[in-house]
Amino acid sequence: MPERRIFVTCDIGEALQQLADRGYWLQVHPQPEPPSHDRILEAVRSGIAALVTTIRDPIDSRIFEAGRGSLKVVSQYGVGYDNIDVKAASRCRIPVTNTPDVLTDATAEFALFMLGDLARKLYLSERLVREKRWTVWHPTLPFLGCEMAGKTVGVIGLGRIGKAFALKCSGLGVDILAHTRTPDRPFGESLQKLMDARQKLQSNRRRNRFRFVSLPECLQQSDFVSLHVPLNAETRHLIDSQALAGMKPEAFLINTSRGPVVDESALHQALEQGVIAGAALDVFETEPLPDDSPLRDPDLEDRLRLYHHLGSGTVETRLSPDPNIGMAGRCVQAALDVLEASDQARLSQMPLVINREVF
Ligand code: NAP
Repeated sequence: MPERRIFVTCDIGEALQQLADRGYWLQVHPQPEPPSHDRILEAVRSGIAALVTTIRDPIDSRIFEAGRGSLKVVSQYGVGYDNIDVKAASRCRIPVTNTPDVLTDATAEFALFMLGDLARKLYLSERLVREKRWTVWHPTLPFLGCEMAGKTVGVIGLGRIGKAFALKCSGLGVDILAHTRTPDRPFGESLQKLMDARQKLQSNRRRNRFRFVSLPECLQQSDFVSLHVPLNAETRHLIDSQALAGMKPEAFLINTSRGPVVDESALHQALEQGVIAGAALDVFETEPLPDDSPLRDPDLEDRLRLYHHLGSGTVETRLSPDPNIGMAGRCVQAALDVLEASDQARLSQMPLVINREVF
């Protein structure tokens, strides 16, 4: 029964059982490395009904053309879908789904912890202890960190994750600036009220402010700049040498969005020349980070933190089969919504479809 076959490019755990329980026949790519483009193409050409993908799989127009008339849905395990040619999907009338919301808190909190690692030099402190270089307690030696309270945090891209990040930061006594494409004014007003309420509980603090600002102002005024935009033509290299030159020399950059939002060679140069104080990156232009990446420069180790695309990487968020908790559950649910829709025109039953124009 080819119409009930599903190809899954990566094992996403027990949530897949829900598909098997509904009578779908699963082919799960067994290796940790992604399948080749040819392997995905072959699966689609064989007439599968659904394709479950991750950010590692380039799903281009050849794949959608091959699936015309047979492939009913591409269900992406992730909120970002810059690996998928959504225009080609729409042209071929194939719905694409993603998994928003369930990874919002995990990613926002990771961005906050990255910021904490940079500000208080957690990695350097642990290395000092482990390498037996901590020889004496001293008020200033061997180094001090930077306090967050009283500083300004800039959020670029105030969507789901950007808002969650701003809310988490509001507990730290910081001013918050946001640059985003479509400012949500009621959210800004509510966040200001929350910051005011916090100040009442800790009256020794000055009033913290939230403001929507332009990109140059966000970069110029912030001590910490955190990126939360999707990757698209407009945001590719949004942070280039000019943007970095517009930041304070004592400022830090945090990127949990997508690697190509930052021009890595410009960042390398900016860190080398002290244009900014430091950066923490969870995502890279090429992933995994190549062995010869200039970002591995040992001279930058004291000011550049590198992580392995771990933003959404909690057990709950990555693996829960519950569609309201985990990406795995939500991804399976999104596929079933489309596969089992009684009437494809009833879009309300398919809230996770990105290219709603296909119906
Ligand atoms: P979202 O809700 O769509 O938020 C993105 C925000 O960025 C939106 O408010 C959007 O404005 C704004 N934006 C788009 N283009 C912009 C531009 N040129 N300048 C300024 N703002 C712009 O998405 P999300 O759920 O927060 O996720 C954001 C991204 O995080 C994802 O696309 C993904 O790439 C990344 N992510 C990474 C990890 C990780 O593990 N590191 C995990 C999850 C997500 P509009 O409202 O006008 O569109």
